[in-house]
Amino acid sequence: MKIFNTMTRRKEEFKPITPGEVKMYVCGPTVYNLIHIGNARPMIFFDTVRRYFEYCGYKVNYVSNFTDVDDKIIKKAMEENTDSSVISERYIEECKKDMTALRIRPATTHPQATREIDGMIEMINKLIGTGYAYCAEDGTVYYRTRKFRYYGKLSHKNLDDLQSGFRQLQVSGAEQKEDPLDFVLWKPKKEGEPYWDSPWCKGRPGWHIECSVMSKRYLGDTIDIHAGGEDLIFPHHENEIAQSEAANGVPFANYWMHNAFLNIDNRKMSKSLGNFFTVREILAEYDPQVIRFFMLSVHYRSPLNFSRELVESAKNGLDRILNCAENLQFLMQSGKDGSDPLSESGTKILEGAAEYSRQFEAAMNDDFNTADAISAIFDLVRYINQNVNEGSETALVKGLYEQLAGLMDVLGLTVEKQGASDDEVRYIEEMIEKRAEAKKARDYAAADAIRDELKAKGIILEDTREGVKWKKA
Ligand code: AMP
Ligand code: ZN
Repeated sequence: MKIFNTMTRRKEEFKPITPGEVKMYVCGPTVYNLIHIGNARPMIFFDTVRRYFEYCGYKVNYVSNFTDVDDKIIKKAMEENTDSSVISERYIEECKKDMTALRIRPATTHPQATREIDGMIEMINKLIGTGYAYCAEDGTVYYRTRKFRYYGKLSHKNLDDLQSGFRQLQVSGAEQKEDPLDFVLWKPKKEGEPYWDSPWCKGRPGWHIECSVMSKRYLGDTIDIHAGGEDLIFPHHENEIAQSEAANGVPFANYWMHNAFLNIDNRKMSKSLGNFFTVREILAEYDPQVIRFFMLSVHYRSPLNFSRELVESAKNGLDRILNCAENLQFLMQSGKDGSDPLSESGTKILEGAAEYSRQFEAAMNDDFNTADAISAIFDLVRYINQNVNEGSETALVKGLYEQLAGLMDVLGLTVEKQGASDDEVRYIEEMIEKRAEAKKARDYAAADAIRDELKAKGIILEDTREGVKWKKA
């Protein structure tokens, strides 16, 4: 399996630290608002990476944080005249709802910055002890950037270029820095802000230190994969490396993965530009599976433009796959008992289908090329449509269904009927049965009434050669 490593700018063979295990850390959102669909891109993609590792037999320890102390959270709390923890807890819950809807599995651990302050104080103390950090007069602790020889190795930036870029920056307390490149590890509290006691002053951590501390605590000093959106390469991940490697004396992460942006009109979707749609808004309009399929239809290192046309075309593509699965399900239900052994020709067809799983795996092994993996699924669908009909053996139909469902599951997509509870399915099937009886008795008015009643409930009936099928509108 090859992974493009931002650090070396090359695709490299993946070698885990512990055989059979993957330790990965994905920087999560700052929780002061509902997440937008740009935030959902790394969540969906890295959840898929995790699922693919698991498909390959790895045990994955997946850590993703919530940044729950930050200027924007504090500002929002002040506006609402409440505590910043009320804001962060509210939006963590909302974020988890969106994740569930998008079939993003909960991380093994979701640490929160405010619960890890002790670890941060410990790491900052260590950095001060070894001269990598210093406390200014007002109690602010800064990281001594130039002391870390490898600063810039991830973002491929040169310290002197950075120096000139920083000159224009006016940061409060900046005059107390030894060097404009130095960044904050701990800062004194301001009126009305949340704070914690520390050896330096009552205050709160800078942003970068939380990930260094939480990654070490839950995954160890060196991890396999550290990931996030490409806006995090600099300064966030560069600073995390400086902190962790100076404190631990070993490499921080072996592979660095960064997704490109979700754009609108070729500009990054972001809260600050105001050009965003929340996941909540989009899910009121589209099936979450469509959004997930749309996100994965383009390679993660390519920008992805959000437009209704592209989402519609993703919807059509996904429907093609779901229709194929539905046909197979229908044939399985209406077919004979599947316990008969598969005939020679059926075995041949199944063997032929395995080629598409190999193509899927080859695409995923090539730096998680989900776009090509989806093409392999389309090819499998075409193959199934050509090789299966009403007369097909149930064991064959079942084998193909399981293969298709299994590949879709790696992408976090289900081919099961969505959004219908068992009771609902039972009700729909009873109505279909009643309608068939009405038709048999030539009571077409009653049959149509049943169809209309279901339609009013958002259930569409379709009469096909193989029988009556239903779907949600
Ligand atoms: P934030 O809440 O801004 O810290 O972002 C949380 C995660 O979402 C980070 O990994 C960001 O890199 C990522 N992210 C934010 N905006 C976008 C976007 N428009 N496209 C892709 N990823 C994004
Ligand atoms: Zn981080």
